[in-house]
This record gives sequence, structure tokens and C-alpha cells, in this order.
Amino acid sequence: MKAFEHASPTTKEQAVSLLGNQWGETEILAGGTDLLSLMKEYLSSPKRVVNIKEIKELQGIRYSPGAGLRLGALVTLEELMDHATVKKEYPALAQAAEGVRSQQIRNSGTVGGDLCQRPRCWYFRNGFGYFPKGESGDDLVVNGENQYHAILGNSGPAYFVNPSSLAPALIALKAKIRLFGAQGWREVEAEQFFVTPKSEGEREYVLKPNEILGEILVPPAKGIKSATYEVRQKEALDWPLAAAAVALKVNGTSIKEARLVLGHVAPVPWRCQEAETVLGGKSGEEGIAEAAQVALKEAKPLSKNGYKVQLARVALKRAILQAAQGGA
Ligand SMILES: Cc1cc2nc3c(=O)[nH]c(=O)nc-3n(C[C@H](O)[C@H](O)[C@H](O)COP(=O)(O)OP(=O)(O)OC[C@H]3O[C@@H](n4cnc5c(N)ncnc54)[C@H](O)[C@@H]3O)c2cc1C
Repeated sequence: MKAFEHASPTTKEQAVSLLGNQWGETEILAGGTDLLSLMKEYLSSPKRVVNIKEIKELQGIRYSPGAGLRLGALVTLEELMDHATVKKEYPALAQAAEGVRSQQIRNSGTVGGDLCQRPRCWYFRNGFGYFPKGESGDDLVVNGENQYHAILGNSGPAYFVNPSSLAPALIALKAKIRLFGAQGWREVEAEQFFVTPKSEGEREYVLKPNEILGEILVPPAKGIKSATYEVRQKEALDWPLAAAAVALKVNGTSIKEARLVLGHVAPVPWRCQEAETVLGGKSGEEGIAEAAQVALKEAKPLSKNGYKVQLARVALKRAILQAAQGGA
């Protein structure tokens, strides 16, 4: 790891004043479960690391039935998973946190860090960047080991999948992400937070290099039923192969309104708007199967990841059934 300066501010204003204007110049450190690996592998070599863990304002979970849920960026995945109100009102979120299968990662990893973690693409993690090319200029993902890459939103040049398990749940629940910079707060819909980079100098989100992800606001659940369902290769430590988070307004046995979001299948969490329309007004497994079919109809698997299409359909169907049955 390259030597770096370590700063430990106690306010968000101090933290922002310590951040550089270019990505890579400085890095924010929260739980460190991703950043430290990136630094050890020389994938990130900042001159200064700004540790935000001492900023009390970024901690804590608050809830009121009128205002909804407020998650400080430093809330750990374990706190989120164990929170009684989150489990009752926003099961999709608690289930997504629980899906991170390592107790140690859940104890240290934070909500802000989960949303800002870098892609797990093995080319990216081996120093080839977002758009790995071979010596002859050929695309290493398209022509190579692409079994864990994107099946949607993969017209290029990026083929990695967004690694955050919390992101689909937050998007399904209509969360807003609040970012703090030198000009104060700005707010973005969770759905607008993630972007597909088009050049190596960009990041996978709209956060600027001199901003902090400060907090997340989730509107009151008001009877909305939600669930997350993940498909994994194994129960042990790993990211899902495909996942779905859903939020449903249910009227008796029929689904009045739905928000359906797939995870780990595209460079950004993937909202399935056409499938949401198909599901509206439906009840029973036939409608759910039809929605899952529609959600994946634009999928364009690469040479080795065709299997993910069916996994994503299954994740979506099971998340809808789980939510309709109460979300627990
Ligand atoms: C074995 C293993 C299995 C895992 N499985 C899963 C999984 O199934 N699903 C899943 O979603 N994740 C998984 N993870 C990833 C894990 O959830 C993240 O590493 C963790 O949440 C990151 O949080 P952190 O606080 O440690 O972030 P850090 O490592 O401190 O930071 C990560 C990145 O986010 C930036 N950052 C952190 N906080 C902020 C902030 N408030 N504002 C702006 N930028 C910020 C940092 O600069 C850095 O670039 C796994 C990790 C491991 C090691």
C-alpha cells in the first residue's frame, strides 16, 4: 500500500474541506471493508484518506410514521438488519442487509459504503479498469470470463454488475439519497444515484469527489409490502448471482401497484417498469410469472452468463410472492 495522509474530521464540513476535486486524489474511509482492499491492491492510491467514522451526525437510524426512515451513512449493515422497525416496515431492506453473509463485514460495513463500493468485476479488481482490453484491443469481458457479468444494460462499454445488495431495495422503496458538499446538501432519488461510466475517470454514481453520502431517507411504508430475494452460488461469503427487491401496494388479493428492481444483473440496479405495469391489477402466480417474463425480455446474455436470465426471473417471482405474503 502506498503511504498516505490520514485525516479524522469530526464534522461533515471539515470532512468535505479535506476532499480533493479529482477522483483518486483523496478517498473517504467508512468501515474500510472495500477501500482497504482497493488500496492494498494498488487499485486506489489516494494521497489522503478521510476517515468519516468520527462524524456523529452521520450515525443512527431514526423512524417516525409521518416522516419515515432516516439512515445515517455510517449505520452498519448489522444495525440495519437487526432494527425492529426496519424488519417490520421495510423487510426488503433488512433482508438485503442480512444477505451480506459475513458477520464481520456486516459489523464494519456501512450503508454508505455498501452503496459506494466499487465493482467486483475480476478484470476491474485486477487493474484492467472498467473496459478491459487485450493486447490486440479485443474486449476481455466479451471474449473472456464473463459468467458473472451483466445480462441487462450491457450494450457496452461497461459490462460489470452493480454490487450493492441494498440499492435495489432502496430504489423499490422510493428512497432518496442526501449528499453533502461545500454548497450544502443536495438530494437525489436512489434510482438516479447510479450511472454506467463511459470513461475510466468516472465513477459508478453521481456523487462528486468532494461530496459525502450523508444520509438516506425512505418514505413511510404505509402498508407497502416489500421483500428481497437473492440467488447465490453458495451460502458462504459472496455476492448474489441475481437478486430482486420489490415493493407492492396490495388490495385484497390483487396487486394494485408495484416497484420491481433487479440487482447484480446490470451495471446499475435495474428497474423493471414494463413488468410493473403488467403486474398491476393481477393476482395469482400466472400474473407474477408473466411479469417476470417481461422483466427479462430485453436480456442479452454474454457468452457464458445465459444462466443468469432464469435466475433473475426466479428471484423476481419469489420476491413478489414473498412480499405479497407479508414480506417476512
Ligand atoms: C466477502 C465479502 C462479501 C460481501 N458480500 C456482499 C453482498 O452480498 N452484498 C453487498 O451489497 N455487499 C457485499 N460485500 C461488500 C460490503 O457490503 C461492502 O464492502 C461494505 O458495505 C462497504 O462498506 P464500508 O463502510 O466498509 O465501506 P469502505 O470500504 O469504507 O468504502 C467503500 C467505498 O465507498 C466510499 N464511501 C464509503 N462511505 C462513503 C460515504 N458516506 N460517502 C461517500 N463515499 C463513501 C469509499 O470511499 C470507498 O470507495 C461483501 C464484502 C466482502 C468482503
